[in-house]
Amino acid sequence: MGNRDTELTEKILNLKKSRNAVILAHNYQLGEVQDIADFVGDSLELSQKAAKTDADVIVFCGVHFMAETASILCPDKVVLLPDIHAGCPMADMVTAEGLRQRKRELPGAIVVCYVNSSAEVKAESDVCCTSASAVKVIESLDAKDILFVPDQYLGHYISTKTDKKMILWPGFCPTHLRIHPKHLSHLRQEYPQSKVVVHPECRPEVVDLADEVLSTGGMCRFARETKAEELIVGTEIGIIHRLRKENPGKKFIPASEQAICPMMKLITLEKILWSLEEMTPEVRVPEEVRLRAKVAVDKMLEIV
Ligand code: SF4
Repeated sequence: MGNRDTELTEKILNLKKSRNAVILAHNYQLGEVQDIADFVGDSLELSQKAAKTDADVIVFCGVHFMAETASILCPDKVVLLPDIHAGCPMADMVTAEGLRQRKRELPGAIVVCYVNSSAEVKAESDVCCTSASAVKVIESLDAKDILFVPDQYLGHYISTKTDKKMILWPGFCPTHLRIHPKHLSHLRQEYPQSKVVVHPECRPEVVDLADEVLSTGGMCRFARETKAEELIVGTEIGIIHRLRKENPGKKFIPASEQAICPMMKLITLEKILWSLEEMTPEVRVPEEVRLRAKVAVDKMLEIV
């Protein structure tokens, strides 16, 4: 760590203490942001942490829908998103109005929304899921038709794991789409002893080539437990920092160096410091939306 980072880190830690704040960071965050966080995890783990924390302030190092989820679960806390422009292009592919219209076309369908969606979309949904909980959530539903929003690729992957009839919204993650089957086949040749783990947001042709299809939290557990010493990792490359830190004896190879989510990288140490100094930008979900969205999020947390 350079002098600049050490100085910033010290200031952040002091302010964090005086504000009684907790710093939560997603597995895709910059390495230096992960290193300063109290907890690093996937969307499910972060929402569970947010639900349980007794801090007054949550500094959410991730993207907008994640901070909204924290606000849905903890209305009495101040939720800070150090860069308010950190959105998720996939979440933006479904709007509450668009979803209402589709629901009118599909009366009787149960709406399952991936956590990567706005609070307003969650408020229009029956139950929420993360990539770690998706199969379990869908399997628990007693429904003829399930409308799954917004990720068609996660939806497709779940549909291969269940007999339920799923109607998929045509959304996608542009970052995961940068991973192509040819990347995996080249790397498999280069590292014949390796295991390939990919995220279910990847396209089906990539998923078909994987040994394991896992959430980022699942990848971290798998990396610890597997006997394999080389892992090819098909997800956003921010996770490589954590995997290397936790498993110094193993080798982690990104499936594609281009799988970078520019939105996740908007959060920096400087912005975390400014955010704690000025207690802004704050993300707060309006109460009427929050209460309806909370039903969908709570249902997921009960199931997992
Ligand atoms: S990696 Fe994809 S799904 Fe995750 S925040 Fe970035 S764009 Fe959204």
